[in-house]
Amino acid sequence: MGQAENVDPGELEKFGELAHRWWDPRSEFKPLHDINPLRLDWIDAATSLAGKRVLDVGCGGGILSESMADRGATVTGIDLSERPLAVARLHLLESGRQVDYRQVSAEDLARQMPASFDVVCCLEMLEHVPDPASTVRACADLLKPGGAAFFSTINRNPKAYLFAVIGAEYLLRLLPRGTHDYARFLRPAELARACRGAGLAVEEIVGMSYNPLTKIYKLGRDSSVNYLLRARRDA
Ligand code: SAH
Repeated sequence: MGQAENVDPGELEKFGELAHRWWDPRSEFKPLHDINPLRLDWIDAATSLAGKRVLDVGCGGGILSESMADRGATVTGIDLSERPLAVARLHLLESGRQVDYRQVSAEDLARQMPASFDVVCCLEMLEHVPDPASTVRACADLLKPGGAAFFSTINRNPKAYLFAVIGAEYLLRLLPRGTHDYARFLRPAELARACRGAGLAVEEIVGMSYNPLTKIYKLGRDSSVNYLLRARRDA
């Protein structure tokens, strides 16, 4: 890895320890399986994935990467944690899909191949890195001019703490305790500022909410806890 490393080894280890259960829809990764159709459709509607060159940053075991390949995109998935990548590669044997998985940071890949992708996705990852603005800048640099960036993360406010940490990790036990560090949550305005600083124009912010009674996730106006952001690289 190059220069100042924007990575928390403890985070990589956390995902490494759970990696063998990544594709089990009843595991710790159930929330990612549950939200995937929503976010995939949202991305596909905004950018029409078929035929696009797509990069998935922090791809983990490849839930989003594979689903984008299934929509006809040529997908590269990158992560710094070794075991999730090994699981992602193994799962291709089962699914028969094609994804190019690489263990490299967004920052290093941006130096190796700037302006190479039509679409860059970085979902549920920014809340695990020390310097999210650096990741956002790398994502912007990896995009061709006019390309589309998609981010998702968790808002930072008392409700987000209650829902994303206390609710999801302690009450509903959707996620293992310690999955999320409140201090790393990112307000939409902060993410939008990082985007603008990187030459990305913010086009849409959409909330994602979970109803624990119906167990249904949906996209909508409520971005107080989970949200997604779409931006475009200046042409
Ligand atoms: N984006 C995937 C996985 C989210 S889990 C999805 O939404 O389905 C978060 C992932 O980020 C893990 O696989 C973890 O290994 C990865 N990650 C954490 N810090 C990273 C870093 N600095 N660089 C690359 N990947 C990182």
